[in-house]
Amino acid sequence: MSTKYVYTFGDGKAEGKADMKNLLGGKGANLAEMNLIGVPVPAGFTITTEVCTEYNKQGKEAVVEMIKGQVEAAVAETEKAMNAKFDSKGEAFPLLLSVRSGARVSMPGMMNTVLNLGMNDETVKVIAEKSGNEHFAYDSYRRFIQMYGDVVMGVEAEAGEHCPFEQVLDKVKEANGYAADNEMSVEDLKGVVEEFKAVVRAKAGKDFPTNPWDQLWGAVCAVFDSWNTERAILYRRMEQIPEEWGTAVNVQAMVYGNMGETSATGVCFSRDAATGEDLFNGEYLINAQGEDVVAGVRTPQEITLIGSQRWAERNGTSEEDRKANFPSLEEAMPEIYKELDEVQQKLEDHYKDMQDMEFTIQDGKLWMLQTRNGKRTAAAMVKIAVDMMEQGYFDAKTALLRQEPNKLDELLHPVFDTAALAAAKELSKGLPASPGAATGQIVFSAEDAEAWAEDGKKVILVRRETSPEDLKGMNAAVGILTERGGMTSHAAVVARGMGKCCISSAAGLVVSGKKMTINGVEYKEGDFISLNGSTGVVYEGEVATINPSLDGDFGKIMDLAEANTRMYVRTNADTPADAQTARNFGAKGIGLTRTEHMFFEGDRIWKMREMILAEDVEGRKEALAKLLPIQREDFYGILKAMDGFGVTIRLLDPPLHEFTPNDDASQKEMAEITGIDVKVIKEKVESLHEFNPMLGHRGCRLGNTYPEITEMQARAIIEAACDLKKEGLDPKPEIMVPLIGTIKELKMQEEIIRSTAKVVFEEKGVEVDYMVGTMIEIPRAALTANEIAEVAEFFSFGTNDLTQMAFGYSRDDAGKFLPIYIEKGILKQDPFQALDQTGVGQLVEMGANKGRATRNDLKLGICGEHGGEPSSVEFCHRTGLDYVSCSPFRVPIARLAAAQANLR
Ligand code: PEP
Ligand code: MG
Repeated sequence: MSTKYVYTFGDGKAEGKADMKNLLGGKGANLAEMNLIGVPVPAGFTITTEVCTEYNKQGKEAVVEMIKGQVEAAVAETEKAMNAKFDSKGEAFPLLLSVRSGARVSMPGMMNTVLNLGMNDETVKVIAEKSGNEHFAYDSYRRFIQMYGDVVMGVEAEAGEHCPFEQVLDKVKEANGYAADNEMSVEDLKGVVEEFKAVVRAKAGKDFPTNPWDQLWGAVCAVFDSWNTERAILYRRMEQIPEEWGTAVNVQAMVYGNMGETSATGVCFSRDAATGEDLFNGEYLINAQGEDVVAGVRTPQEITLIGSQRWAERNGTSEEDRKANFPSLEEAMPEIYKELDEVQQKLEDHYKDMQDMEFTIQDGKLWMLQTRNGKRTAAAMVKIAVDMMEQGYFDAKTALLRQEPNKLDELLHPVFDTAALAAAKELSKGLPASPGAATGQIVFSAEDAEAWAEDGKKVILVRRETSPEDLKGMNAAVGILTERGGMTSHAAVVARGMGKCCISSAAGLVVSGKKMTINGVEYKEGDFISLNGSTGVVYEGEVATINPSLDGDFGKIMDLAEANTRMYVRTNADTPADAQTARNFGAKGIGLTRTEHMFFEGDRIWKMREMILAEDVEGRKEALAKLLPIQREDFYGILKAMDGFGVTIRLLDPPLHEFTPNDDASQKEMAEITGIDVKVIKEKVESLHEFNPMLGHRGCRLGNTYPEITEMQARAIIEAACDLKKEGLDPKPEIMVPLIGTIKELKMQEEIIRSTAKVVFEEKGVEVDYMVGTMIEIPRAALTANEIAEVAEFFSFGTNDLTQMAFGYSRDDAGKFLPIYIEKGILKQDPFQALDQTGVGQLVEMGANKGRATRNDLKLGICGEHGGEPSSVEFCHRTGLDYVSCSPFRVPIARLAAAQANLR
């Protein structure tokens, strides 16, 4: 049997179904499924994602040949279901088609769409005659030429110019004094059609295709081509969508929301995608095509009465004005509204998730064009899962697995301080398109947003409306503000997906060039403004922020994670404040305190430098004596903040180049502070110079060559613990030796630590339990972990150095080539961010297994940056580690990822 490339749907029947997303794409699979569950969907067919893969390999001609027969048969089926005829010469109502992309996961607005396909000089007349609506027929025709000309034939604006089609429309509108496109007369529209064809001829160098079949193949291939546009590639990279997936193509009978006042089109959500509130909501436009709603050019009206009333309140619109001019669909078309409400409930119940739907009302009949699980903010993700679990849609396991760990990050970051907000000057109010707090400097183009962000500035991208071309700039900005567009415009959908604060349709905002005015007051590039994406309010200047609340639904999800996890989460923290933050986020202990980081603060660096630059043991001891009380105080604070939990304190591990005074100014300053001759300092710094500091005199090599350093640090830790014990607390220090490659290195350090502890216990008259362990961060340590575990009571995998040394990529220099490696596909991900499970992972696994073979109660953890990255956390769970350790703000993410790993 030959391969099936085309799957039809329509009339309550379908060849595909919902679980065929890989083959049919998300949209195609759901169109099939909607047919099967009795939701009204215009008939059509889906060309599979496998065809896209073949297209990329074999090219256009071969693929068209391959699928031609199946497509022709599917068009015939569609004609039958819709009682219409493709390429009709008058024998039946012309079948017009929409041609849309549809990957496995939605990529809103990133790929191409063509509508009204099948129009030519003949069919337009048949449509005019059979529909009795000449205006509609010619309006659809001119839309088709514009869209097809742009998407398929590549007709574009010249640099610095307006789109050539828009120029024609503007000219006609100006000549006749029309305010909007839909005011144009039939005669004007006919003129526009001819002018559009001339534009195509001039710009594309060939005539607009009149044969509907040629049009269809052009559009299908254009959709496949759009898988590889720059913006689609960028989006995939951001969302980690594999290149090889490809897109399906959905070809579907057109239904018309622009047939007059009994027609409409809209987008709706079964729950609120921004807040998660269990409230049906959405927007619609009477007498419009779907793209009008999504593009955000005309500001749409609310679907429900309650939504409309809330909109009016935000907007300052009176109830009278609202009812007369901006009625909800619930009021304007109550019968259809009721049907739509039932369909949305049916779809949510069926898919057991919040649905994002598109619909069209053609002359009083409702058609559903799409449904998909809606993109949502982190707050909505958490609330919807908790609500649906409590409403009995699914159990706790599903609620947990529905969370995207990395998205939680949005909930952990600051919101506006209420007092600062009350004092801030309100400039405008718009639609709260994507929540969050953002303060930054205004820029007016995506390119500027990127450039300014690269300079370390926080920027707010202000646009009339955003288009998918703005994606990079939106990504670089902290917030987005637009003059036009609704809650379902591309800007809003994409911003919500990115977790970026966004306000659209800000009242009184006018953007022109590198300037904007709000109610007549001018703001220029670089001025500060603040956005509250949760309320839609725009403020002047910078507004202070505070940390968010962690209870409510977020707390419920974290409690569920706690109850469903095996592995626990610690934090990497160098100060008591960080330790406290992490503890509030649910960290159970510290997996890494980098002691050397404590010396970057204030004038401590000079004491550290004195120690590093000391000529001999005596000089070093003198400097160490100054460092001891500082260290003891730090350890005291950290052990206290984490009272009752294990605290891993790592002995000094400074790549020396990070601490030596390397330039003239700091050498001079050092001379002034210490009274040592600047020449001596210079010479010493030069003598300490290393070609490869990361592989140089650092880690335990320092403690083994200068044992007095280890002695001071062990003393500071044990003294602090003894003091806390005397106060009735329960300190649990775990002393960790870094950069071990041989058992002897560890053994010598252990002896110093244990003998120092013994002395301190005698001096203090009290004893504390403590552990001595090591990092596994040098490949040789992993290979000989069975020997090392004879001394070490715990291992902590230092996957930063382990990755550096396994790949041979310098941590300090990898930034120069890693991005290119990823772009070229040599590496899928940055191995310093997501653990390379096939390579470095083997070292971790081997270290864990060999270590436990020697000591079966060996405590195992990870403290490299990977400890907070979900796929690496899952790996650690599988490998049997006891805990992962990560920076404080990643603790909830790691906790969730650990629970998910346990449930999968
Ligand atoms: C590591 O190497 O993974 C580690 C945690 O140590 P550092 O990053 O301080 O070298
Ligand atoms: Mg390290």
